[in-house]
Formats: sequence, structure tokens, C-alpha cells
Amino acid sequence: MTTTETRSSDLPLSLRTIRLGATVTDKASAIRAAGQLLVDAGYIEAGYIDSMLAREGQANTCLGHGIAIPHGQPAHRSLIKQTGLAVLQIPAGVRWNDDQIVHVVIGIAARGDEHLEILAALTDVLDDDAAAQRLATTTDANHILAALRRGEPAAKPAAVIEPWPDAVVIDVVLIGHAGLHARPATNFAEIAADFSSEIRVVHGDRAANGKAMASLLRLGVESGVTLRIEARGSDADAALAVLAEAVASGLGDVDEPAAEETAQAWTPPETVTSVIVGTSAAPGMAIAPVFRFRAEMLSVEDTHGEPEAEIRRLDRVIAEANADLQRLENDAGACPLPAEVEIFKAHQALMSDPELHADVVALIREGHGAPWSWQQIIERRVDEVRRLKNERLAGRAADLRDIGQRVLRLFSGVVSRDPVLPAGQCILVADDLTPSDTARLDPKKILGLCTAAGGPTSHTAIIARARGLPAVVGAGSEVLSLPDGAMAILDGGGGRLYPHPEEFALASAKEFQAHLAQHQATADADRFRPALTSDGHRVEIVANIGHAGEAAEAVESGAEGVGLLRTEFLFLGRETAPTEDEQFLSYTEMIRALNGLPLIIRTLDIGGDKVVPYLGLAHEENPFLGVRGIRLCLRRPDVFKTQLRAIYRAAATAEAGSVKIMFPMVTTLEDLRAAKQLAESVRAELGAPHCDLGIMVEVPSVVLMAREFAREADFFSVGTNDLTQYALAIDRQHPELGKEADALHPAVLRLIDLTVKAATAEGKWVGVCGGAAGEPLGASILTGLGVTELSMSAPSLSAVKVKLRGTSLKALRSLAQRALACSTAAEVRALSAPGRGAD
Ligand code: PEP
Ligand code: MG
Repeated sequence: MTTTETRSSDLPLSLRTIRLGATVTDKASAIRAAGQLLVDAGYIEAGYIDSMLAREGQANTCLGHGIAIPHGQPAHRSLIKQTGLAVLQIPAGVRWNDDQIVHVVIGIAARGDEHLEILAALTDVLDDDAAAQRLATTTDANHILAALRRGEPAAKPAAVIEPWPDAVVIDVVLIGHAGLHARPATNFAEIAADFSSEIRVVHGDRAANGKAMASLLRLGVESGVTLRIEARGSDADAALAVLAEAVASGLGDVDEPAAEETAQAWTPPETVTSVIVGTSAAPGMAIAPVFRFRAEMLSVEDTHGEPEAEIRRLDRVIAEANADLQRLENDAGACPLPAEVEIFKAHQALMSDPELHADVVALIREGHGAPWSWQQIIERRVDEVRRLKNERLAGRAADLRDIGQRVLRLFSGVVSRDPVLPAGQCILVADDLTPSDTARLDPKKILGLCTAAGGPTSHTAIIARARGLPAVVGAGSEVLSLPDGAMAILDGGGGRLYPHPEEFALASAKEFQAHLAQHQATADADRFRPALTSDGHRVEIVANIGHAGEAAEAVESGAEGVGLLRTEFLFLGRETAPTEDEQFLSYTEMIRALNGLPLIIRTLDIGGDKVVPYLGLAHEENPFLGVRGIRLCLRRPDVFKTQLRAIYRAAATAEAGSVKIMFPMVTTLEDLRAAKQLAESVRAELGAPHCDLGIMVEVPSVVLMAREFAREADFFSVGTNDLTQYALAIDRQHPELGKEADALHPAVLRLIDLTVKAATAEGKWVGVCGGAAGEPLGASILTGLGVTELSMSAPSLSAVKVKLRGTSLKALRSLAQRALACSTAAEVRALSAPGRGAD
């Protein structure tokens, strides 16, 4: 790389930002390297590189001919300091998408409308293979500079447009906000390619091949301009009708402003200079004085005791701590959120970790007291995890400290006190917060959280999200030096804290806050409208429920029925199994609440993490691989038959066809056949109506045999929670690994793809009732894969509906294909779903 500064008159590109002869291993590294050139040149803030990576997930920026033009999302323009370009030449090439090899990566940071001009200038080299080849191999950066300079030899004069007398023609106005840039041009070209007719787009004195994205880009069309689309061939009329409609609906570009909503990040006025950058953990905006939370950290001195007595003391205290957590989970008065229940379950598992226990016992046997030994081992583990400098594991440090303190308090008989907070509302800043601290915070007083440490997947972050508390984590120690009472703006979506804002910034932040509130209110107000994509595809949005009372609540939140009734609730937390009548009453109560809406009742899924004392289940080392779900039911026909009788009796009181039965944890066809046989004998015995009998797809063997299963089951509902744990071999309850069991892992998505294809071939429908269905990005990908019913917990319903309504099935299919092509879960998560609504 040379340091000579030669600026083109037209393009904000200099020799300083051209790097020749680079080698990179993959696309993401290429984008990062191009982004770094922009950072080094002072064109962008480092954060814009993430935006460039995310943008690539939205649209492939490869123009063909070995050239790609990665650029960030419009929502992050505030991270551009000055418009500029950077070129990374990779002579050996890097794989961009399936069969595209890129040699020249042109990173673009455009603050305003220069974007289009730059694109048009770049595309001038695209028609010339030799020119593109030169760019890929030249050892003189001046050649690149010259080629990209508009009006230089590589650029061509406008073509004289040869008339198409036999063509049909239509004039359309380009909407969207950024003109015919890469994404709308790609969409146009893809739609045009579906037709056999020749299609071209005319703008002024230029004409472009309507099926070639690069050619369309060369038109340099700005928003609001009238374009002429011409088509000639057998399906010309149909092509024009479809293309005109696509242009009128924004060619997917209407998603761009929505991306701003999606990011839910505030763009501060330019005068704001004081900012602390962290990582977004929960969206939303808080404006309040900060208050430093100092966790009460108990510390104990070593005492010596008789080892066996100390070990017994340790076990007693751990059992007590576990019982406390169990009480927290079950404490209906405290209304723990599902996320909190999961976390406290994970804490129980962490506390019962045999290795942890063995390490503590080893210290006790060396002659140390139980509390001190416990404290030592926890501290060691926290240190180890923190040293890993891994965001996910950083979150585990807080979990470890949390259980560490819980046990120490019990050893010392110290009662945990609620933190002393200021009288008014505040943004809480802390080094880190344990999940217990976070769960105890009163959301009326605490408007937001900002921690110096921690990661976005920590349990603290999950609790903050579940409580709707804006949160920023990993903000560094700077946040701890803010004086109590200092005014601040916390932008949870943007992952930033702005201390000491001026009036102007406060006013802007309040405006943004109102905008977010409006966005949520709109989603809520529209919750009863169906999830109909812009091209008319309807996705059924239903709820997962686990209690009789939740049915009405789900409908009130916009559910179109119940896609998963977890019947375990009837069996857990009691001394004996529920009777047939008890179950019958419960199911009929739900049927009444649903008033004709569909209800899928899943038969008992006990086993795994859900154990009941009265069924006499044997202890299993790996209960998730043991007798659970349908395996248990088939071994206990007394329990199974009672439940089936109750369901069929209840179904007889419902509208025909509205009640369906679903079997969990099916692994083999024999399981399904045996379950169906028993169900049919119960139905015949009662003279009850037919109910569709479906299965949960949770085990990879079912996916691989999906064609055979689809012939014998009436429907499939994918349980992504279990399918993920069995596909990735990660116990979903595992305190450390559990969070890596990501249902959006490409391996899981490919299994779902196989499932949908097999079911479709047999004329059966596929739903998803695992956690992935309730995430806007997951719902988008699943819909794109062909899933037609999404079942989720009630709080997710309105956001998922908004998301799907704001996009087209076509865009979702393309998103799904991109997700399937990803190599890691992180890559899938970097794809932003098209459409409106929060991700
Ligand atoms: C699943 O496994 O995704 C599912 C919905 O079932 P559960 O979470 O009840 O095991
Ligand atoms: Mg399951």
C-alpha cells in the first residue's frame, strides 16, 4: 500500500484507501478488511463495519465480474464521518456467495446521495471483462483509481437506445428512499428473470437490461424518478404487470427505513460528543439520572472443621439454596417471567455441578472450612471465565457469582437486602449484575441498565429483555466513574450511554422514545390482524400455552388459536396423577376460552428435565436421552389412556376439527404407530369424533425419515428447542452450553428444510412451536422455508405479526435460502429479516 495521496475529483477515494495484493480467508474477513481501511482513513467509526456485515446479510453486494460493494445499513449512517471509498484487491479471490468469487472489494461509506453516483460510476467497469480483470490483478493502485473515476476510459458514454417497436411499455415511479441501489435492483432483476420476455428499463438516455442487476445500477436512478419498463416476448404483459406492482411496492426498499426501526437505535444530533459505547442487551430508551449499584458482596474467612461434617454442611446449604431457587420459580405471587424461571433452573443445575462440588470437597479435605472452600472455587471459576474474553462466557461469570453469593449468604445466615435506591427513577449502572439482582429490580424505578462487564446473552440480559428494560452491557469501566445523579440517555437498541446530554439532545431522545412507544402501540393495536405478507401469503400465528387460564390471555394478545398446549402443567407439582375428569375439565375450559379457534393438545411430555415423583421414574444419567414424552406414555398406557380419554371427551364438546392431538418426542415409526393405535382404540371406545393426529419433530431421526412419517401423521410441528439440543448435542439446560444451543444454527435450519420438503411432498402442513418461532428473525426464516403455522408465547405474537406483514413471501424465501447457506449460527443472526418490526 502506498501513502501517496491522490484524490479523484469525483470519487472520495484515495491511494491511501486502496490495498493491493490482499489475501483473506472468507467474505466476512474481506468486508472487515475493507471496513478497516475506511476506519483508518477516518471515513467511518469502527461500528460501521458491523453494519456492513449485517447489510451483506440483507442483500448480496456482489455485482458480478469479481466485484463486490459492501456498505452499511442506512440506520447506521451516523457512524459515517465523511463519505469515502476503500478498495481491497484480492488477486486470489474470495468466495462471496455460492459460485461467486470476488477479487475487488469496494467498501462504501456514503453519508448522503453520493451513494448512487458512486454505484453508477462503479458499474461502468462492469461491462468490460478485461477492465474487471485488470482491477483484480494490477499492481499499481493508480489503475484502480483511474478505472473508478467517472468519465475515465473505463466509463462508457450513454448508449443510444435502439427502439423496441413491438414492446409493451409501462411508466412507473420509483419509490423507496435511496433510489435504485443494490437491493431493489437485485429484486427487480430476480423478478424479471422469472419471465422469458426480454425486459429493459429506460431512464433518460440510458437503457438497462432488466434482468441484470449491474446494468440496472448503471442507470443511477434516484428515488421519485419515473422509469419506463419495456418488455417484448410471449409473457411481456404478465411481466410488466408484476414488475410494475413490484416497483410500486418499493422493490423491497421500503424495508430500509424499517431497518432503522429494527435496529431501534437512536441517531443523536451531531453535537453530541459524550458517548460510552457498549453492546445492546435489550432495546428501548431511558432518560434519567444514573445511579451506581454496588452489589453487596459477602466474603468469608477460612475456618477449620472436621472434613466430613463440613462436607455435610456444604451439601445441606446447597440443597437449601436449590430449594430457594425452586421457590423463586414457583412463587406465583412474585410472577417470575418464563425467562427467569429458565435462568433459576440453570442456576440449580450450576449449583449441582458434580465437578464444582468435587473441587470444593477437595479443598475441604485439605482442612479448609466449607464456606471458604466454596468461595475459593467460585472465585477461581469466575476468574477463569472472565479471562476467556468471550462475550457469552462473560455472562456466565455473573451466574457463578450469583450462586456463589446465594450459598455464602446461607452459610453466614445473612439475609439478602434489596439495594438502596434513590427516591426517584434512575438508570442503574453497575460493574455487572447477577440475574437475581436484575430480577429484583423494580421497573417502575429502574428505567434502564448499563453494566461495565457482561455480554448480550447473559441471563441478566435475558431478564432485562423479558422485563422490557432497556439495557447496555460491556460498556467498560468508564460508566462506573459517572457521579450518581448525572443525567444520561441510555439507548438500549444502539448499545450506548450518553452522559450529560444537552437540552437539544434530550429533546431528540424524547422524540425517539415517543417513536418507539408509537411503534409498539401500533403493533399492539394491530395484533388481531392476520400475518399476511405483502404478496398475500398468510401465516397462522398461534400461541404456546401451559395453563388453562392462558388460553384467553393468548387470544387477547392476538393468537389465532393454540399451537401447543403443554399438558405437563396438569401433572407437575402434585402428589398423584390428575384424574380423567380433572383433565377433561381443564381441556374443556380451554376449548370454551378459544371459542372455536384451533387447539393442539400435546400429550404428556414428562421426563427429561420434567420429573414427577408419583410415576416412579427411574433415575437416569442422561434423562433427555431416556424415557420421556411418547416413550414414557407408551410404557405407561394407564397414564396415556387416561389422558387420551380426557382429550377425546373434551374434543366431543368442541367445534368439529378444532382439536388436534400431538405426540411429543417421537423417534421411530413404531412409536407413532403404537400411539395412533392406542388413540384410535380410545376414540372408538368413546364414540368420539376424529381428531387429527400429528407429531412433534424434535429428533433428527424423524427428519431423516420425514417422508415416511408424513404419510402416517396428519401434521408436523417442529420443536426447535429439542431438535436443536439433539442436533447439536447440547443439553438445553446446560448452564454454560445451553445458550449455544441456537435454533437458528444452519444445521437446525437445514433439518427443518428437509422436514418441510418431505411434508409438502406428502401434502401435509408443518408448524413450528419451539422458541425460534417467536423470534422475528426466526419466524421470517421459518416462513421462508415453507412453515405455515408459528406457535409462540403470547408476548411475541404482535411483533412477529408486524414483522411478517411488512414483507413479502418472496423476500422471506430469499432470506431462508441465505440462512441455509450460512456456515454458523452467528452468520444466520447477522442476516436481518426484511420487513418492518423489531428483531
Ligand atoms: C420444543 O422442544 O421445541 C418444544 C416446543 O417442546 P418443549 O419445549 O416443551 O420441550
Ligand atoms: Mg420439546
